[in-house]
Amino acid sequence: MQSIEKMGERFWYITPISETDRPILGMVVGDRKTLMIDAGNSESHANYFTGELSKQGVTNPDLVVLTHWHWDHIFGLSALTHTVSISHKETKQEMEKLIPYSWTDEALDERVKAGMEIEFCATAIKKEFTEHRDITITLPHVTFENRLEIDLGGVTCVVQHVGGIHASDAVIVYIKEEKILFVGDCMYADIFAEIENYKIHETLQLIEQLEAYDAHTYVLSHHPKPLSKEEFNQEVTMHRTIAKYTEFCNGEKDKIIEEYQKHVGREVTEIELENIIFYANGF
Ligand SMILES: [Zn+2]
Repeated sequence: MQSIEKMGERFWYITPISETDRPILGMVVGDRKTLMIDAGNSESHANYFTGELSKQGVTNPDLVVLTHWHWDHIFGLSALTHTVSISHKETKQEMEKLIPYSWTDEALDERVKAGMEIEFCATAIKKEFTEHRDITITLPHVTFENRLEIDLGGVTCVVQHVGGIHASDAVIVYIKEEKILFVGDCMYADIFAEIENYKIHETLQLIEQLEAYDAHTYVLSHHPKPLSKEEFNQEVTMHRTIAKYTEFCNGEKDKIIEEYQKHVGREVTEIELENIIFYANGF
């Protein structure tokens, strides 16, 4: 079940659903303007969020920023008819490529077979759109390349392109006065490659960029809830440690596990093991 949560004075979000791959969506409420972060995986996802928020007195968003081009963050954009949409230049380019696609079961299965789509996304799309599949790709109005600063009145959002292995167009949104960093999917692995992977250099560089922000809350789009500073630091430490041993062990999975376990003085957790495999894959 999805719920709407408020954090600090000016930030709201909707919790994610893993089965249909619905990510967290955010809403930043300024004195003059309201900014939504990501448009959702369907019109019903976007409409549910804005509908529930209007019950809380939050008006429909004036602006929406897309964190990257993946379907689950953009399919809801067609529902936001009165909202000015903003994305990185490359996000728009990738979205343009989706326009000619058909989203029927057959078309999805065919693209999975051809290696153009991954099974995980195809399954989630089928589950999200059970009744109809009239998906309209709506392109963003405004594009930028590096950084934007948006003054909503009493609260400022810095939208910064960071890229990374998950999606090279990825941007983050730093809600300055609230010290919230909306990280999106950029810390996740490359899921579109033949084998899911992390690349040491790219990931460490990305982490450094994220650490430059003075934040106490980190929103990772598919995590059940936002991370505290301490939880984010633990996540970062895990990445740095695995990256270090991946290098040291020349990407040999079993050796990395052995060294990692020696270092932490216990067995690896399921998540650590998954990440070790991704780093070994990327080496
Ligand atoms: Zn993604």
